[in-house]
Amino acid sequence: MSLKGKTAVVTGSNSGIGLGVAWELAKAGADVVLNSFTDRDEDHALADEISKETGTTARYIKADMSKGVECRDLIEQAGACDILVNNAGIQFVAGIDEFPVEKWDAIIAINLNSAFHTTAAALPKMRAAGWGRVINIASAHGLTASPFKSAYVSAKHGVVGMTKVVALETAQEPITANAICPGYVLTPLVEAQIPDTMKEYDMSREDVIKKVMLERQPSKEFATVEQMGGTCVFLCSSAADQITGTTISIDGGWTAL
Ligand code: NAD
Repeated sequence: MSLKGKTAVVTGSNSGIGLGVAWELAKAGADVVLNSFTDRDEDHALADEISKETGTTARYIKADMSKGVECRDLIEQAGACDILVNNAGIQFVAGIDEFPVEKWDAIIAINLNSAFHTTAAALPKMRAAGWGRVINIASAHGLTASPFKSAYVSAKHGVVGMTKVVALETAQEPITANAICPGYVLTPLVEAQIPDTMKEYDMSREDVIKKVMLERQPSKEFATVEQMGGTCVFLCSSAADQITGTTISIDGGWTAL
């Protein structure tokens, strides 16, 4: 299938899943807009590399997804926005009684509120274009919980709820809204959780990976960023025209337990 002529905006895409999704969408022919809150040469270089390798147009636009105005401005600056992938996300691990208020606020802003702002700004463009896809990168933690992740689990459950609302509001239009719920994917976000979890459980790095992270993932394998991107490409295909308002778990069986 070809996504030639479509423009995809992927929030939080200078690393990890977002970057993997941008690559797969570009390989399928879409022009992509990469984003994060930094404005470094290496951010723009990622877009240049995608353009060069895929023959599509890739751009990098700086916008801080913790700020509603910048979320909406990202969509404005993108021009077209046929495919919106809300991916930007951060994590912080602490018991709820010790959870720093500023971390709670940042997680809710970046992991949940940003998707509200970008979706609100993108839907009129999708309606004008007569086609659209909203794909929210939620999490297995949008469907289940773990201790010490109150803000993250709350935000991801919120994203799954908002996905359903957007799907209902667009149900009779050629627009779909779905959430992808990954289990553990070895990205910088997961790497960053390892030291805290080592402390929390007094375990070695290897034990945290095997006994804490992949303990919940029956396949005992990390999912990959390419699998996330491939699922986004599928959701953009006509085979997925009637798939809306739902979640797709890519979690090695985690939520089957
Ligand atoms: P990552 O840390 O590699 O990527 C996060 C991205 O978000 C980065 O590009 C970062 O620059 C960007 N970002 C952070 N704060 C931002 C801000 N204020 N404004 C704009 N961009 C910002 O992590 P990842 O694992 O690739 O996570 C991507 C998404 O996937 C997140 O929403 C995460 O919750 C979700 N997820 C990840 C896993 C996993 O195991 N890696 C599992 C389930 C869900």
